[in-house]
Amino acid sequence: MIDVLVIGGGNAALCAALMAREAGASVLLLEAAPRAWRGGNSGHTRNLRCMHDAPQDVLVDAYPEEEFWQDLLKVTGGITNEKLARIAIRASSTCRDWMRRHGVFFQPPLSGALHVARTNAFFMGGGKALVNAYYRSAEKLGVQIRYEAPVDRLEIEHGEFKAAYVGAERIEARACVLAAGGFESNREWLREAWGQNERGEWPADNFLIRGTRYNQGTLIRHMEAQGADMIGDPSQSHCVAIDARAPLYDGGICTRIDCVSLGVVVNNRGQRFYDEGEDFWPKRYAIWGRLVAQQPGQIGYSIIDSKAIGRFMPPVFPGVQADSLGELARKLGLDEATFMQTLNAYNAACRVGTFDHTALDDCHTEGLAPAKTHWALPIDTGPFYGYALRPGITFTYLGLKVNDRAEVHFGGLPSDNLYVAGEMMAGNVLGQGYTAGVGMSIGTAFGRIAGTEAARAALRMKNPETQRAAA
Ligand SMILES: Cc1cc2nc3c(=O)[nH]c(=O)nc-3n(C[C@H](O)[C@H](O)[C@H](O)COP(=O)(O)OP(=O)(O)OC[C@H]3O[C@@H](n4cnc5c(N)ncnc54)[C@H](O)[C@@H]3O)c2cc1C
Repeated sequence: MIDVLVIGGGNAALCAALMAREAGASVLLLEAAPRAWRGGNSGHTRNLRCMHDAPQDVLVDAYPEEEFWQDLLKVTGGITNEKLARIAIRASSTCRDWMRRHGVFFQPPLSGALHVARTNAFFMGGGKALVNAYYRSAEKLGVQIRYEAPVDRLEIEHGEFKAAYVGAERIEARACVLAAGGFESNREWLREAWGQNERGEWPADNFLIRGTRYNQGTLIRHMEAQGADMIGDPSQSHCVAIDARAPLYDGGICTRIDCVSLGVVVNNRGQRFYDEGEDFWPKRYAIWGRLVAQQPGQIGYSIIDSKAIGRFMPPVFPGVQADSLGELARKLGLDEATFMQTLNAYNAACRVGTFDHTALDDCHTEGLAPAKTHWALPIDTGPFYGYALRPGITFTYLGLKVNDRAEVHFGGLPSDNLYVAGEMMAGNVLGQGYTAGVGMSIGTAFGRIAGTEAARAALRMKNPETQRAAA
């Protein structure tokens, strides 16, 4: 019988598998995806948020524990477990040497990203290179890996893991780590969680999934049915506005549309619905998915003129281009009269001061609802551009409750041999909101803890005498 079974194939699963193997356990990892698509959402990531008290290799200045904690407290609005959060924060300051030993390389962020140079360590080659490095290292260490092996249920007796099932195949192990991501790829479940709106629409039918198609939440559902203690709200998810032309799955980071604060956004009725200049874009981009989700047809259109070009990271696909605003409305399929009314009202309301996209400047609208409070310049210089936007789900927050040993709980009691890591438990630390790079901090910290604890549990079961003596 295998010592540790790891279910999932992303960052958290790989961290768990490597730690368990390093602790002397035999390890089998089951990844639902085929080899070419292995790695889950982790393959789409770029960086890890790291605490540090002084400059450390790619990280400048300092990002002390307290500041990291305050940032987390702010974005979650207090819906976080301080003890578990601090475990993830502290682990983020020491995990990079271990990551390097398993083949991960870091690089300084590209220019123009100074604020993240202090807080976030970027993976050379992105998350895909990170997961490939971990798989290589795992194979070298003798971790057995099976692809196209989606686990659909577990056998659990009195809170103790016995076996996992891939279809009819029963796989026994002494201990198990669940690291199978959220349920963001399960469109039926998203539909249920978002429900039907007052217009009779099912908003989730128009959502796109930014990451893997394999995070169906099968084991979250199953564990809930098995009586595991749960955490998080199923209707909460990290949701950004992305290019409506993005694929249904796996569009990744390059489908983001980052020009919202430089222009206006209208819905399919040609009307504005929110202050595009409320705050800096990195602080606001994550609210626009939900805002677009609330619009009729769950679609929005980001409109800019040529003054905005060069001031934002261009999307992969060019926008719809036109020489006049009327032509742009027609090309986007919007009612020209309403669109022109909206744009004319906006242009007339702009009170231009000193435009500065790096500050909360004094360019704003007057007498317009909703107002645009910063970076409000008239949209008057052709050519004009429009980008259709859809809500893009990054990940969901519903998961399993854990303690500092990443143990799954049943009725408040920890399991002896079942652990959980990554997105499946991130809701313990991140009840809502998000701050860049913290998903990988949580997954790395708790993946490593889960792997260590699972190995300990398995070796204890295998050889109770030796383990007792060692303790
Ligand atoms: C586009 C994008 C960009 C992101 N950028 C960042 C970033 O820069 N920094 C950051 O910290 N976070 C980022 N995130 C969030 C980050 O991806 C997650 O927090 C993190 O990857 C979660 O790791 P995980 O191992 O829990 O899940 P995943 O990496 O999603 O892995 C889950 C794995 O489980 C497998 N699986 C699912 N169900 C089953 C099953 N039933 N049986 C077997 N296997 C199963 C999947 O195939 C997958 O391999 C980003 C997310 C997206 C979508």
